[in-house]
Amino acid sequence: MTPLSTLAPGSGWVKVRASGKVNLALRVGAPREDGYHPLATVFQALSLFDDLGVRAAAPGHYSVRVAGAQADRVPTDASNLAVRAARLLAEHHGGAQERGVEIVIRKTIPVTGGMAGGSANAAAALVACAELWGIDVSPDELAGLGAQLGADVPFSLRGSTALGTGRGDELVPVLSRGSYHWVLALPEFELSTPAVFRRFDALFPGAPAAPPPVPEALLEGLACGDPARVAEHLVNDLQPAALDLQPALGDLLDAGLERGALAGIVSGSGPTCAFLAPHEDAAVRLSVALGGLGLCREVRRASGPAPGARLQAG
Ligand code: ATP
Repeated sequence: MTPLSTLAPGSGWVKVRASGKVNLALRVGAPREDGYHPLATVFQALSLFDDLGVRAAAPGHYSVRVAGAQADRVPTDASNLAVRAARLLAEHHGGAQERGVEIVIRKTIPVTGGMAGGSANAAAALVACAELWGIDVSPDELAGLGAQLGADVPFSLRGSTALGTGRGDELVPVLSRGSYHWVLALPEFELSTPAVFRRFDALFPGAPAAPPPVPEALLEGLACGDPARVAEHLVNDLQPAALDLQPALGDLLDAGLERGALAGIVSGSGPTCAFLAPHEDAAVRLSVALGGLGLCREVRRASGPAPGARLQAG
């Protein structure tokens, strides 16, 4: 894989790393009038990173190059979330035509995988451009700008473990002890987030206006650092919709459970399946076993919680 140092060599570049996430709980209410579904969710950031580099470009010029396994699935025009983030920050501090930036991204977070890869890039671009342009911006202002770009961006900025309400963008930290070892199975097929929400609406026409609460026992398990308790209370209200659209996900989830996972869950709107292992050795065994089955494109390991978007040396 192309290292970021090849894409963003030497001085003049500001580099930021940002993590993907898994939703340990994703509770969904009925769509509001504006179309958004109210959520109650527990995010955990995972050690699955995208690296982003920025350097100054001529005023009004915004560009992005993307490298990595699925780079061809990421837009490189003005719709790229990192470009939108850079422009948004500039608009609020000096004007988009007064500033410019060249962005490079090395992706390892699966694209359209339900792991908030685009949001991680938006968060990284906000942090990187604030540093590049010497803008003194508070974490609250960054989170506010991030929320305009996507509901998961405030969490991508913050990382660790957090409870999200509203669209998932109103965050409070969650006490979490210990490390959690995950195996992520990436299917060949895609699932679009809007399509999964539409199927949720069709399957659950009587969904309550407010999302159901996240399980107390999940939060207690996190506070105690007890993976078995956490595993028992993982919940994703979008999972039935994702399974309805792609029944093969059921075979993948079963395969993980039969091979040592404490629990398996569709990550966000999918199609990535996240399996929680009791410890690191079990995660290694599970990833090898799942990789040999031919049920998915790729199997990765990651641990959580991981930090939010942060500057890298050099
Ligand atoms: P979501 O659940 O928010 O839809 P996801 O985690 O499932 O996101 P992403 O990898 O964030 O999936 O991609 C969502 C969409 O955003 C895709 O259509 C992708 O092409 C687009 N996108 C725009 N900018 C980026 C970026 N920098 N990196 C990845 N995807 C991007």
